[in-house]
Amino acid sequence: LLRLLGPLQGLSNVRIDIMTALVSFERVFEVLDLPSMVQERPDAVPLPPTAGRVEFDHVAFRYPRADEVSLASLESVARAESRDTGEVLRDISFVAEPGQMVALVGPSGAGKTTITHLVARLYDVTGGAVRVGGHDVREVTLQSLEDAVGYVTQDAHMFHETIRENLRYARPGADDDEIWTALEAAQIGTLIASLPDGLDTVVGDRGYRLSGGERQRLAIARLLLKAPAIVVLDEATAHLDSESEAAVQRALDRALVGRTSLVIAHRLSTIRNADLILVIDDGRVVQSGTHTALLAEGGLYADLYDTQFTRSA
Ligand code: ATP
Repeated sequence: LLRLLGPLQGLSNVRIDIMTALVSFERVFEVLDLPSMVQERPDAVPLPPTAGRVEFDHVAFRYPRADEVSLASLESVARAESRDTGEVLRDISFVAEPGQMVALVGPSGAGKTTITHLVARLYDVTGGAVRVGGHDVREVTLQSLEDAVGYVTQDAHMFHETIRENLRYARPGADDDEIWTALEAAQIGTLIASLPDGLDTVVGDRGYRLSGGERQRLAIARLLLKAPAIVVLDEATAHLDSESEAAVQRALDRALVGRTSLVIAHRLSTIRNADLILVIDDGRVVQSGTHTALLAEGGLYADLYDTQFTRSA
């Protein structure tokens, strides 16, 4: 938190609302170094319990310019300044029905990650609307939206704290039984149980060094504790050994059951199973459909299929 507040306190001309900073911090821990760029409306209402329908309705988006950023860390201001701020998404429309898996595929820089960040309103759209459970994400409280959407990314952040505390970020007050259940479902219970300090093992930069596959499975355990209706998953491109990869896959298969998922897909098995595939190129949906239909259609999807997808699993 100090890391976040430090730069903010330096900006003496900015009225700093500590609560906003705290909300921002809460919102970034899964998504990594992404300060929230949005403000909650005074009349925001909690998102009612949702079955997880996600709708993009003619969404357009460009990243805010540095002079438009009212409350953000210096790091993000620098990032905004160093980038081209042209339109990154144009006229994106799709629906993920409750429980469906929507796969996003496309070349690097096409806008896939940006789409996933708009679901939890890490930024505001510049045109159209994003709706969760039928509610425009700008009309609901940030905390209730955060509770409804879980992120599993390739580089899940672990704090320099015990495994127990790292998992409790997902559900404060979770007891050890609940934590072990989540660890087991995430295919990492046996490994944690074999560590001399078990749940008290300190992980993170200066602690027990977790492998990429272990970090991913801990992130999945967090997700299971949080139990969101909607999951955003960025599939690993980094090479995991095949045992680790199989364990991560088993854990994910369990974690996604009954949830709506938006997956930045790199695996053939994922695109084959997806209810809907969106092919994103230069900020637009250029093709959409199921794997079989898209293959028959040819075009960019067929090219990506030949070059981009990991055949394993
Ligand atoms: P990859 O497959 O390489 O992860 P992607 O399809 O997920 O790419 P995005 O990360 O969504 O693509 O990026 C879409 C565009 O937005 C790119 O041109 C990128 O440079 C730009 N972009 C991403 N993040 C920011 C930011 N914070 N500020 C300004 N521009 C950004």
